[in-house]
Amino acid sequence: MTAASHDIGLYIHIPFCAGKCRYCDFVSWSGMEAFWEPYINAVIKELEQKSQIVPKRHVMSLFIGGGTPSLLPYDTVLRIMDAVRKHYRLLPDAEITIETNPGTLDHDKIRAYREAGINRMSIGLQAWQDHLLEFMGRVHNAGDFDEAIIMAQNHGFSNINADIIFGIPYQTMDDWVETITKVLSYQIPHVSCYSLIVEEDTPFGRMKREGCWQDPDEELERKMYSKAIEVFEKAGLEQYEISNLAKPQYRCQHNMNYWLRGEYLGFGIAAHSFYNNERWANSSDLRLYMESIERGSNPMSECYYITNEEALSESMILGLRLTEGIDLDYLSSIYRTDVRKKYGEKLADLAERQLVELKGSVVRLTKRGMDFANQVFIEFI
Ligand code: SF4
Repeated sequence: MTAASHDIGLYIHIPFCAGKCRYCDFVSWSGMEAFWEPYINAVIKELEQKSQIVPKRHVMSLFIGGGTPSLLPYDTVLRIMDAVRKHYRLLPDAEITIETNPGTLDHDKIRAYREAGINRMSIGLQAWQDHLLEFMGRVHNAGDFDEAIIMAQNHGFSNINADIIFGIPYQTMDDWVETITKVLSYQIPHVSCYSLIVEEDTPFGRMKREGCWQDPDEELERKMYSKAIEVFEKAGLEQYEISNLAKPQYRCQHNMNYWLRGEYLGFGIAAHSFYNNERWANSSDLRLYMESIERGSNPMSECYYITNEEALSESMILGLRLTEGIDLDYLSSIYRTDVRKKYGEKLADLAERQLVELKGSVVRLTKRGMDFANQVFIEFI
């Protein structure tokens, strides 16, 4: 297990989308153009306000996520970048990611992102089949993805991630293999593969409650997951986290910082922060958030102090997501607790159920453990 960096990450939440996907429960809206400008002004103000918390810390990663940041005119992104550079010590080699969706990008935007120093682009493809995209309420088609990725590559983006989803009703194994194959054809260095989760408060959740939903076959879903890992690994993308694969040197530094319990600050509505053993979240009410910032007060809606015991539990749960696993002796030294002794029985039981494997002082999920990770995590809560 690698130690978390002393440098921090920054996350900026842009809660606007071209349309609302039917599975999405993120804090994001479509059709709120009137709020774009005042919201960005608030975020820029928050960047300035919070910079006093971390005057001497270097920033190793910046993630402009959402929502769909690429929906906004590019000058808003440039203003955010200027504010970050003005108020924070952004390292020259910091990873700077922008989350984008096909159909919202053009040459001018991509050129402006590059010129502003953004060096990583994450593109939401989800599936290659237009009927599945339509079913999920995505506002783009596969052709838009093709156009977006080629434009990005032509403008010099080499560090590109594609998000794809499996376990969609009506998605066949052939569909999934086609999606994987198409993604591979662009030679990008990073892929995130997520299983579709039906959240209650979404159109899919309502369909499920009303009985007009057919759960995808569980066995097929697991096979899709294994297939993705197998095919991507053969092509040189190594699985380094439950849902993430990358070519060497292309792991997402921003997310690695989360999994290693590194510190970060979040800006914008509903953004989370972790700093100085405290976790807090900004209000997810847009007006409240903007009014708080306007008044110069903290838009925080909840804050928890993390005890030593909770920190250890977080390290176990987050660290086990990584394929390299966790070094229990290392955790024992940082938490001044005999971790092997504390979790000895649980780990032996999980090993017996073939969900984790122990080698020396390192524990990691097995392939089966990756499939049933929640059953493992629950043991450490
Ligand atoms: S584009 Fe992303 S954030 Fe926006 S609605 Fe769809 S899934 Fe949610």
